[in-house]
Amino acid sequence: MSEHTTLYRKWRPIDFASVVGQDHITSVLKYQIANGRSSHAYLFCGSRGTGKTTCAKILAKAVNCLSPIDGNPCGKCEACTLIESGADTDIIEMDAASNNGVDYIRDIREEVVYTPAALKKRVYIIDEVHMLSPGAFNALLKTLEEPPQHVVFILATTELQKLPATITSRCQRFDFKRISTDDIASRLEFIASKENISVTHEAAKLIGRISQGGMRDAISLLELCSGKGKSINIALVNETAGVMGRGVSAEAVTAILKKDIQKIFEIIGDITSASADITIFFGELIEFYRDMLVIKSTKDAKAYLDLTDEEYKATSALCEHFTKEKLLYHIKSLADAYNAMQRSITVKRVTAEMSLVSLTDDRISVTPEALLSRIASLEEKLASGSFSVSPTEVTISGVKPTENVKEEAPKKVLTTSLSPLSSWAEVIETVERSDNFAAQILKQSKGYTDGTKIVIKTSNSFSPNILGRPDVKALIATGINLVGDISGITPDSIEITVDQNLKYEDDPFASF
Ligand SMILES: [Zn+2]
Repeated sequence: MSEHTTLYRKWRPIDFASVVGQDHITSVLKYQIANGRSSHAYLFCGSRGTGKTTCAKILAKAVNCLSPIDGNPCGKCEACTLIESGADTDIIEMDAASNNGVDYIRDIREEVVYTPAALKKRVYIIDEVHMLSPGAFNALLKTLEEPPQHVVFILATTELQKLPATITSRCQRFDFKRISTDDIASRLEFIASKENISVTHEAAKLIGRISQGGMRDAISLLELCSGKGKSINIALVNETAGVMGRGVSAEAVTAILKKDIQKIFEIIGDITSASADITIFFGELIEFYRDMLVIKSTKDAKAYLDLTDEEYKATSALCEHFTKEKLLYHIKSLADAYNAMQRSITVKRVTAEMSLVSLTDDRISVTPEALLSRIASLEEKLASGSFSVSPTEVTISGVKPTENVKEEAPKKVLTTSLSPLSSWAEVIETVERSDNFAAQILKQSKGYTDGTKIVIKTSNSFSPNILGRPDVKALIATGINLVGDISGITPDSIEITVDQNLKYEDDPFASF
């Protein structure tokens, strides 16, 4: 049985000199080793794939090496060869994500008093240390308070903020940076040349970009692409990564601008049926918006962007249809949806759809970001003299909006048999506790009753898609029975109607 050696493991740096993009860390570590001034506890923080574990392994070897060269492990001495053979028992690696128990840390506490079996120092590498249980943290703290001379702790984490200050203050901390796209690309090209893999420079850069500063992901993707036995170009990378490419992001942005809701459902549908990960697509879309924001807010935007001339031109063109505030608002909303998707896998698709659809109309949200975005667009219209009564109008050169909202003079909409529910705001509050998104939509509506049934009127033609869902109706019914003017309301006795002329009190822009 031969173990499959991945490219990442095969090309994992064996000394500090070959660690990419973390010179600010490796130079300090090398200095410490060369001068015999290593610490008892290190904390390596940074996002995944930036080299934390790699550096921990090199450091573990370096502190034990009998004749380090310029702070690097020599790779030849008894200690180095023992560690490389994997036969040593003094370097202990533990993944707190799979072993967060207090018992394990207690074991460490008991064994630290004994001297190492064969090496100078016993090194404990604890990965994802933020996952330790509170009890385990306490036990670890006791050990860190009085560490024996022959013990070194290297703690690694992707989430520094989850660590107790009592732990971080006892460690020497190093922050690993995301590796730049260029650094990743040149490392990939180096590995490719050694492995007889043909990859274009553009494709190597794209892999770097997709991996977002993580070398491990980048090398894995390179390996995945090379497995297809073809020369690696941009198309192959996109296909392999299941990335939709910037074209699809541009299409989604265009659909949002044109309020083309059908197109939005189509795009998400295509991604789902291609079995691609919607979360990855959202990551790309956020990146696309970020590029637009850079173009919108800086003079020399190209210097900060990783784009080809063609991509730059296409992105700038779309960017013209946004104010800075609108871009910020969209990025914030997309990031919220992105986080929600990572928490709940089952509703990914719905979250994606709802998020994009809500971006077609600022009025769906009453967050400060949405309001700022609306103020900015009104200001712009006033300033340009092209003020229009319809805040939903967007025209993209060459394409017509798919939906024309005509503003008519307000009409009286209340029918005599219905009277408003005076406690509507409270009802919305009860819904907000379980479903924030539905509550935001409800804020654009008014509740009425004729004594037996509830009629919810909304001016937004999209709202019934949300409010009509059985789970949302049930929440509304519960809320009305709890705080409403009447009781005995069932989900079935709730009706939702669209009234374009409806005004709601908490909408400061209703008069525009
Ligand atoms: Zn050595």
